[in-house]
Order: sequence, then C-alpha cells, then structure tokens
Amino acid sequence: MSKSKKEEDVRFGRFGTVSFTQTTKVNDFIDHLQRGKVMASQCKTCSETFFPPRADCCHCLSSDMQWREVAGSGTLVSYSRLQFAPIGFDADLPYSIALLDYGDFRVFGRIDSALAPDEIKIGMAMTTVVNELPNGQLNYIFKKI
Ligand SMILES: [Zn+2]
Repeated sequence: MSKSKKEEDVRFGRFGTVSFTQTTKVNDFIDHLQRGKVMASQCKTCSETFFPPRADCCHCLSSDMQWREVAGSGTLVSYSRLQFAPIGFDADLPYSIALLDYGDFRVFGRIDSALAPDEIKIGMAMTTVVNELPNGQLNYIFKKI
C-alpha cells in the first residue's frame, strides 16, 4: 500500500465518543462494526488473540493476522463506575468501564448505561455489541445476557 493511500484511510475517525486517531493498521475494525460485528485479531502463527485488535503479534512477532469475532458470552471480571471522565466523555457521566473474560482473551469497554448499577455483578454473563452513538459515531458496549 502506498503512503498516500494509507494517509487517506481515515475510517478509524468514526470510532468512539472521541476518536483520538483516524488512521491505524487495523482500520477494517470499523468496517466490521458497521456490519454489526465486534472483532478481535488473532495471530495465525501462535493463535494469540488480541483486543483491541493488533496488526502485529507481540508474542511471536508475526504480522500474519486474521479477524476473529468477539461473539457469545463473556464473564464480567472487573468494573469501575466513573464519576470523572477524560475530556469529551464528561457528558456521559456517570458510566461504568469493565473487563469481560472470553476465555483466551479479554475485552475492555463500557457497560450499557441502560443497565442499573445494582444489576451489575462480578461473574455475570455479558455480551459485547456494536453501539451507534447519537452523533453517528460507533463504539461497542457490554450488555447483560
Ligand atoms: Zn503470534
């Protein structure tokens, strides 16, 4: 891929409440989100799975990666209810960030704000789903199963 072509690939600008970068080596992540799928990347050499997706494997240094859907049930292993947020996220407060365990990989993200705080329990089953924000931006959230 030529450098100029790469610089025009700004798909990642559509990600998140505030997008900190428009160009990554994993811009296809956004295309998958638009199709309703949250994807991790998996190394074809050593099978390690990464979320957020990586274009290169930090275990065996291979760049031979494939997409793998973050599908089904994950287990809530940790969460925190935020009362303060980074600039750009303050209108969303309070919200809960969390970690879901999918067995051989984990996903960091935000819990569905429609879920009441007293319904959130460590060990509960949750799923990761695509979420479209009011301004058309895309992200993903954890929903109770
Ligand atoms: Zn690897």
